[in-house]
Amino acid sequence: MAIQRPKGTQDHLPDGSPKLGIDTRAAAFHFVRETARRILERAGAQFIDTPLFEEADLVKRGVGGSTDIVRKEMFTVYYFGDHGGYILRPEGTAGIVRAYLQNGLKQLPMPLKLWLHGPMFRAENVQKGRLRQFHQIDYEVLGSTDALVDAEAIALMVDVVRALGLKKVRVKLGSIGDPEDREAYNAYLRELFTPHLERLSDDSKDRLTRNPMRILDSKSEGDQKLIAELGVRPMLDFLGAEARAHFGQVQQYLNDWGVEYDIDPSIVRGLDYYRRTAWELHHEGVGAKSALGGGGRYDGLAEQLGGGAVAGIGWAFGIERLLLAMEADGAALPASTGPLLYIAALDEENVAYAAALAREARAYARAEFAYKAMKVGNAFKDAERRGAVWAALIGSDEVASGTLSLKNMETGEQAKVARAELEGFLAGNSSDVAHPPTS
Ligand code: AMP
Repeated sequence: MAIQRPKGTQDHLPDGSPKLGIDTRAAAFHFVRETARRILERAGAQFIDTPLFEEADLVKRGVGGSTDIVRKEMFTVYYFGDHGGYILRPEGTAGIVRAYLQNGLKQLPMPLKLWLHGPMFRAENVQKGRLRQFHQIDYEVLGSTDALVDAEAIALMVDVVRALGLKKVRVKLGSIGDPEDREAYNAYLRELFTPHLERLSDDSKDRLTRNPMRILDSKSEGDQKLIAELGVRPMLDFLGAEARAHFGQVQQYLNDWGVEYDIDPSIVRGLDYYRRTAWELHHEGVGAKSALGGGGRYDGLAEQLGGGAVAGIGWAFGIERLLLAMEADGAALPASTGPLLYIAALDEENVAYAAALAREARAYARAEFAYKAMKVGNAFKDAERRGAVWAALIGSDEVASGTLSLKNMETGEQAKVARAELEGFLAGNSSDVAHPPTS
């Protein structure tokens, strides 16, 4: 058998491919990225790109040594003579904060809004919607602790899913307070779970010493059963006065804007640098355990990476999960688009002339040409297979008179148009020319 792609990766394929799925359709990815770009850039976010691999230390400190990502799911990059100290990035935030610190971005007007899209890598157990190379859209805001920034970030996430046509989406909103609130909560959890140590999974035994809050996040059924039995009090009960006021403001802004959410006390982000607001977006079609995306405030991260104190908040969507949700919701996806104009020469000596016409037309429309002389029937068949709207056949008469004989492949309508009039003709007979596709 020919060599296969690695487990947990996908090819993103052109339209018409025999094995096309919603989450492998390149045009659908492009559509999601473009939709997000429009919404985020209108809100003042600028695009940033960072390397696909980073220092191992950045990932360990940025994601947290007690997380599954760092303990089990990192892809280490080796190359000849190297110590293997690089990691394929599992998420976007740490790299963005590193780039902010390294490139002096604090000189830009604050709050600084950035966005990124690209592949992320985690060596997870592969399932539907859980891949080893997946793709995220990230939005990060640096330089402000204002609750208005938090509310705007959440609202923008909702704007993106609405623009994609998703309906069955819920925002689950929580707060994990300030570091001292979390210490108090962790102390409470330690006391609560220690007498039941033997019932915890091995991972959670470890969490009990390192970071008890992460037990609540456990995927083990036994752990979840114990959590339910013990009637664990939520983090929200432990918020201090400032964190409580901040959380109240975030909710107030969301209420003002009509952004719906459910308060979910089970949202925990157990890492040291997370502060206050944390949330997830869920969709019925993708399953309860699999969020479409999540976000949180991380005011302690820049210091964790060795920089000065920089407030930050951000979120990430998984594009594959957005696409699965769009399919489940029957949301409209971009139609596949063939050429507006397809030009074929009927004689070998006119092939280059037809190609020149198509190249000229590309100034205002999608235009393709046949690479060989075609018989009339074959030319129309080829135009149809490629999804062309107008087909033009070029014979010696058309060359001599400087005209095109056009046929509309959808209606059968025919027209003879002078070469110089082609742009005007196509504009009058198609919405595509007036609104050329953007790249
Ligand atoms: P996280 O960085 O873990 O909060 O993930 C943010 C979003 O990325 C999730 O809500 C998913 O939509 C997506 N995501 C995370 N891990 C995977 C994965 N292994 N496969 C596909 N999507 C993922």
